[in-house]
Amino acid sequence: MADDLNGNATPVGSSSEGRGGMTVEQCEKMIQKSFRTPTVKFLMEHLEKSGCSIGSKFIKAVDCDKRISGGYVRGEGVVVCSNHLQIQDEVNQVVIHELIHAYDDCRAENLDWTNCAHHACSEIRAGHLSGDCHYKRELLRGHMKLRGHEQDCVRRRVMQSVTANPYCSEAAAKDAMEAVWDVCYNDTKPFDRAP
Ligand SMILES: [Zn+2]
Repeated sequence: MADDLNGNATPVGSSSEGRGGMTVEQCEKMIQKSFRTPTVKFLMEHLEKSGCSIGSKFIKAVDCDKRISGGYVRGEGVVVCSNHLQIQDEVNQVVIHELIHAYDDCRAENLDWTNCAHHACSEIRAGHLSGDCHYKRELLRGHMKLRGHEQDCVRRRVMQSVTANPYCSEAAAKDAMEAVWDVCYNDTKPFDRAP
């Protein structure tokens, strides 16, 4: 799975909580801008160091049918869903989230996206390390609970992504997430600690 955006396979998506949207052209500009942020630069460097350097066409803006904000597809690259995003900060988050999936795919030769535990692990890392669950973004989404919010938020988003995987039922996704949580939450590579 995670091979084909147009076929039956589902990309390894970030969940969408978006409102309006922007044009593909506006989104392309924001993607270019995201390349100048320190975290995106850092991840690109580490992809290159791991033997998976990515060209300028690796990340592209598209209009997405599914309610997702982006996706990573093995062998194809990253898509950013222009019609579900509005501001630069959201584009940066999606790019960072999907580059963590690309990094995981690169470093783990036997990563199997049809395996719910493998998928859950990469979603835990992407959710934790991308700042998707920074409290300011959670407040914008209307989730007001602050104590323990970060892990709750990561769990919620991992469940949304893994249950969208046709190989993972809700129960399988939950079991997989719990089984790998500690190891994957604490695995912050290529960062020394969560940025
Ligand atoms: Zn994801």
